Amino acid sequence: MKTDGTKYSNFSGWIDRPDDVRPALDGDLTCDIAVIGGGMGGMAAALRLAERDQDVVLLEAEFCGYGSASRNGGQIAGAPGGDLRMLSVQSPKKMPVMVKLAEHAGHYVEDLIKTHAIDCDYVPNGLVWGAVSPLMMLRVRTQAAVLRAFGGQGTVGSREELGLPAGFVGGMRESIGGMLNPGKLARGVRRALLASSAKVFEQSRVSDVRRTGRVVEITTPHGTVRADKVVLATSVYGGEWDITPKHLATPLYVIETESEPIAPERLAELDWTSRSGIITQHQLMTHYRLTERNTIVCGVRQAQRGQTYPLPDRVPDPRVVQDMGKDLARRFPSLSDVAIERAWGGWIGISPDWLAVAGQVGDNVFYSMACNGHGLCQVPYVAHQLADYIVDGEMSDDLAGIWSDAAKYSPSMALLMQPFVLRAIWGLDRLNDFFNGSKTLARRTRARRRGRRGNS
Ligand SMILES: Cc1cc2nc3c(=O)[nH]c(=O)nc-3n(C[C@H](O)[C@H](O)[C@H](O)COP(=O)(O)OP(=O)(O)OC[C@H]3O[C@@H](n4cnc5c(N)ncnc54)[C@H](O)[C@@H]3O)c2cc1C
Repeated sequence: MKTDGTKYSNFSGWIDRPDDVRPALDGDLTCDIAVIGGGMGGMAAALRLAERDQDVVLLEAEFCGYGSASRNGGQIAGAPGGDLRMLSVQSPKKMPVMVKLAEHAGHYVEDLIKTHAIDCDYVPNGLVWGAVSPLMMLRVRTQAAVLRAFGGQGTVGSREELGLPAGFVGGMRESIGGMLNPGKLARGVRRALLASSAKVFEQSRVSDVRRTGRVVEITTPHGTVRADKVVLATSVYGGEWDITPKHLATPLYVIETESEPIAPERLAELDWTSRSGIITQHQLMTHYRLTERNTIVCGVRQAQRGQTYPLPDRVPDPRVVQDMGKDLARRFPSLSDVAIERAWGGWIGISPDWLAVAGQVGDNVFYSMACNGHGLCQVPYVAHQLADYIVDGEMSDDLAGIWSDAAKYSPSMALLMQPFVLRAIWGLDRLNDFFNGSKTLARRTRARRRGRRGNS
């Protein structure tokens, strides 16, 4: 696809910035619980704490929904992400919990949408783990077997059975979830939060979080909050502070591209009848989805490592966008003349074991990290559970299953995710594409189908 005229954004392609950004904290105040970060996690925690009649303050550096909340691919997953075969060997005890947690998280977001009447174009048509080659289909089948072994569900089928476009052999459809506009979702949750009793300060970048006696002191440019308890909900950004457990989140920058609107008859030619969002089973997945505005959004494929804090406010690298344009043209050959209209990106945090994690530092600082590219549902769900734990002192089974008492994490993920390793993973994926024929699959299938149509 063409990338000459692509517009690069340092926010999101899904929505515009809000025009009612709340004023910054100006002065000092005290509260029972302070939540730092207004992403899906921070907003869900603060909303739940307000629902439970707590005196809660939320501090957000820009505006609620500024981070990956509004930038992600909008794929609602009902199963854990990553390589399930590897995770089942690495964390066999956590796997059954993660499978249940992912399902509950999917339902939680569906309920959130209903409860707050959020118009976010949600289509519950199931996310598909797509295979672009017969070899990748083998991997899908093994992953599906692992998912089933740990109590999850998914339907394995061919391209025709799952209604996938010509560039795919088949895949596995998750039993829960689908796709939505994540910007509209974040905007709807922000609206619900602003209508609640929570005190929300936007444009209030926290520069330090430290314990003084029994309270936690949070510093912002124009004021300080003294709270009895604190929830760190800054995802990967929290690495700036000494209080954040070391190696909790390894920062990766990933991008999304969106095509120009495509004529309905050209989209119909793709035979993407289910319109389900697709995540490939490469080492580093690529995802493809259709939108309400008849565009194709494609994401990830390459990841770039964040090296220093604070993480830069950046735009996608044009070379990565070009690479994605080439991939789209291979996967959807009939659309090779279509332009990529815009590109944006965001930071995701990779947890030490690639699974959700939550815990406590001392008796009054709480954190959760449930991202790894599948955080759209898991992050707010875990934050909601964490809010209930703070109020009730009792943990749900899902929270207990991922809880870490020690707040100490292995540096192995941070050491592994080096730029040259990420580059090598990308190279391996491309090599696999080359040898397993996925480059030509889309072209051949389309030609075969045209031939059949011509004969009939
Ligand atoms: C490009 C992209 C595609 C993705 N696609 C999907 C997908 O399709 N499906 C899926 O399930 N997941 C996806 N994810 C992951 C998902 O979006 C995240 O896991 C989830 O949104 C993280 O939520 P969060 O609240 O933890 O973080 P964020 O939404 O990033 O929120 C963190 C907030 O903290 C604020 N903050 C930072 N520093 C400070 C400070 N010093 N003081 C105060 N506030 C601060 C930020 O401004 C931000 O608003 C994707 C992520 C990206 C980036």
